[in-house]
Amino acid sequence: MATIGFVGLGNMGGPMALNLVKAGHEVRGFDVSQASRSAFAAGGGAAAASLADTVSDSEFVITMLPAGRHVSEVYLGEGGVLAAARDGALLIDCSTIDVATARMVALKAEASGRAMVDAPVSGGVAGAAGATLTFMVGGGEAAFERAKPVLSAMGKTIVHAGGSGNGQAAKICNNMLLGISMIGVCEAFVLAEKLGLDHQKLFDISSKASGQCWSLTSYCPVPGPVPTAPSNRDYQPGFTAAMMLKDLRLAQEAAAATGASTPLGAEAAQLYGLFAGSGKSGADFSGIIRWLRGSAEQ
Ligand code: NAD
Repeated sequence: MATIGFVGLGNMGGPMALNLVKAGHEVRGFDVSQASRSAFAAGGGAAAASLADTVSDSEFVITMLPAGRHVSEVYLGEGGVLAAARDGALLIDCSTIDVATARMVALKAEASGRAMVDAPVSGGVAGAAGATLTFMVGGGEAAFERAKPVLSAMGKTIVHAGGSGNGQAAKICNNMLLGISMIGVCEAFVLAEKLGLDHQKLFDISSKASGQCWSLTSYCPVPGPVPTAPSNRDYQPGFTAAMMLKDLRLAQEAAAATGASTPLGAEAAQLYGLFAGSGKSGADFSGIIRWLRGSAEQ
């Protein structure tokens, strides 16, 4: 069993860290929020008083933070992970952040003599609680092999996406595709409604025809055909519009930085910006169907 310092005990990090405790690892957790530290301690975790206390004696450091600037601050700031972690510790960042920051921090970690992987997740809060997350890992082969047993206590699928930053690249490419496909499925249902075609009929046909995709068959944006989808519970998340917007914007930043042509990704970012800005940032991202119909009620 390993000694692990876990930084960022929020909606995702809290349950992930507790799954490491359940698996028998020795985990010290830290968060700037007292409420998050208390929730971790109430769940059976050992909350530390400072970042340095959390990481200084740990074989593994895991971070689960909101965005790139938090990751830069926690790793590179005064008294941060690179200053305080022990020699040879493996650093694992599970946050969803921009590829450029992920690669920059990993390079600095390497220069300090420590290996680092980016390991963003999909699966949401339910996947974090149930230890069923998918990890998309970027970094060297040896670091990936070292990280795998630890990540296995928090997830079911651990994929090596290539070198440093490629975990983040996989995450934003996948979620850009998801955002675009969700809007496409919503538009098909909105048109079907206008044409007098029943939701279930369109589902039965398209789920067996060339329009088939995950947004339709696992996360259907109209109530009925997929009982587990958020559409059946008034679009309670699930995966919020704000999270989708964050990932679409990261994809657009990466597209601009690399010169990739992603016109539909740009359009999806615009539409989710408008939907989230209409007071729906906390709704499930499939709720954009209501906004596309031009009604908050239907
Ligand atoms: P969250 O806001 O609930 O948790 C982040 C935590 O980091 C907070 O508790 C905050 O206090 C803490 N924090 C911020 N700065 C810190 C610092 N300097 N030192 C220590 N702690 C600090 O967010 P979350 O929903 O847990 O998401 C975390 C990451 O996971 C994000 O990058 C998000 O995009 C990604 N993600 C979230 C989901 C989801 O469904 N929530 C799904 C997949 C990926």
